Amino acid sequence: MGDNVSIYEQGLEKNAANYAALSPVSFLKRAATVYPDKVAVIHGDRRITYREFRDRVSRFASALTKRGIGKGDTVSLFAPNVPAMLEAHYAVPLIGAVLNSINTRLDAPTVAFILDHGESKLVISDRDLNPVMKEARAQMVSPPPVIDIDDVLADGGELIGEAEYETFLLEGDVDYPWSLPDDEWQAICLNYTSGTTGNPKGVVYHHRGAYLNALGNSVEFGLSADAVYLWTLPMFHCNGWCYTWAVTAVAGTHVCLRKVDPALVFPMIRDHKVTHMCGAPIVLTMLIHAPDDQKCTFPQTVKMVTGGAAPPSAVISNMQKMGFRIIHMYGMTECYGPSTVCAWQDDWDGLDEERQAVMAARQGVALVTLEEQRVVNSETMENVPADGKTIGELVLRGNTVMRGYLKNGNATAETFAGGWLHTGDLAVMHPDSYVEIKDRSKDIIISGGENISSLEVEEVLYKHPDIMEAAVVASPHEKWGETPSAYVTLKPGSDGKVSADDVIAYCRENMAKFKAPTKVTFGPLPKTSTGKIQKFVLREREG
Ligand code: ADP
Repeated sequence: MGDNVSIYEQGLEKNAANYAALSPVSFLKRAATVYPDKVAVIHGDRRITYREFRDRVSRFASALTKRGIGKGDTVSLFAPNVPAMLEAHYAVPLIGAVLNSINTRLDAPTVAFILDHGESKLVISDRDLNPVMKEARAQMVSPPPVIDIDDVLADGGELIGEAEYETFLLEGDVDYPWSLPDDEWQAICLNYTSGTTGNPKGVVYHHRGAYLNALGNSVEFGLSADAVYLWTLPMFHCNGWCYTWAVTAVAGTHVCLRKVDPALVFPMIRDHKVTHMCGAPIVLTMLIHAPDDQKCTFPQTVKMVTGGAAPPSAVISNMQKMGFRIIHMYGMTECYGPSTVCAWQDDWDGLDEERQAVMAARQGVALVTLEEQRVVNSETMENVPADGKTIGELVLRGNTVMRGYLKNGNATAETFAGGWLHTGDLAVMHPDSYVEIKDRSKDIIISGGENISSLEVEEVLYKHPDIMEAAVVASPHEKWGETPSAYVTLKPGSDGKVSADDVIAYCRENMAKFKAPTKVTFGPLPKTSTGKIQKFVLREREG
């Protein structure tokens, strides 16, 4: 009472017995102790047990220190989903260094920019990607040294490094002592945004956030020790949405995959008895439209998280018909990937399939490890009414939000204005507290003073029986200011079957007429390096 120090503030201090910094590296230590002989990683014909996984990471960490790399140094990985990439997620942070996984679809100047900006001390690069790495290094004043990954499943490329990864591991000591970082706020990863609006920004994660987001995702995805996780999501994308750590946390099995090819994915699901996988909506579309002879059936239901872009409800329901159960999550690089989930409610079981898919297409509620999400008027920071109609900006906060952008105080301050992470996504709040994204702020179409959500128009287009993919952008219009213009890719075999007028008529029948596109262009859609449709390219075409 009063000025007295609380009884709970005396003799109950933090000490080494009751407090440890949270770090996802500890997941591997436990898995290797509890399940040493269990298969941790499958890669082609290769099987790596949890004991071997730990030993390889020990050697990797030790080899890094022998090359003078230590706390606060950046180590870059330029590789597809191969064991080395997974091992880097443990070895690099184990020594307090920072893992920089580079998007494998980037061009040489962008790779050079990232290596330079992140002050990378070493690059571990896959032979297939080495031509780009070589060009990137040639553009740098002092390029970092390279270790090659000479993967058995690579089908080309070249070796450009000082050593090959497996030889490099042998430089290290298998008895390297594991002492985890004592500060959970320490940087663990540096992930660059895709940079559609200028140079990419370097998002810095900490150990604590990576630990929490991995566990939050495990809970929500229902991962357990019998999980067999197929790597259809690039590990470079927000550290594979933190599943690089989450699957190890439950001592599940990682099944590596260099490239998403339906001809490989379907048989792998069957043969390895895959239980879980993740992918952007484009991966779902690719699986749905794979030729019949590539598809095969499997007895289990595969749980699949999708996110990274809005999945049209038609895509969700087509996947469910093929034996997948889709869980929809939303996130961005700045919040360690998936941060919200469209948590299933029992009473949705009674809805028809189409309605269920509409419910599931919403971005949902905060993961258990994210503190809070709101939809606000970004000027006043007040909540918009939870009416499912009023559009505002989605803002987030909690322990799974980045530390900030590397060497970019202004952008960091702007993104965290008012004590919230500003996502730049426009959303509505439904009465049941589920959020639904309507557009990225720059993608919304304003026609005659009315907001038109491009996602809403796309949602209808995806239901058209001949349409495979669609993107809707604003087209300048004399009278209305802007009107929706649709870019559409038809399904294989549907070419020439539908005209622009047919598509417009279909839209006018299925949505408020003012929302219907006034123009339709057929052809392939431009995509970003993470498989998102590049609306800004389409907007430029509109003039
Ligand atoms: P980039 O910003 O370079 O596209 P990110 O992976 O960080 O890379 O993208 C985050 C953005 O992706 C979000 O701000 C949002 O616009 C979009 N996004 C992610 N998940 C979803 C989702 N489930 N539904 C709709 N949009 C999404």
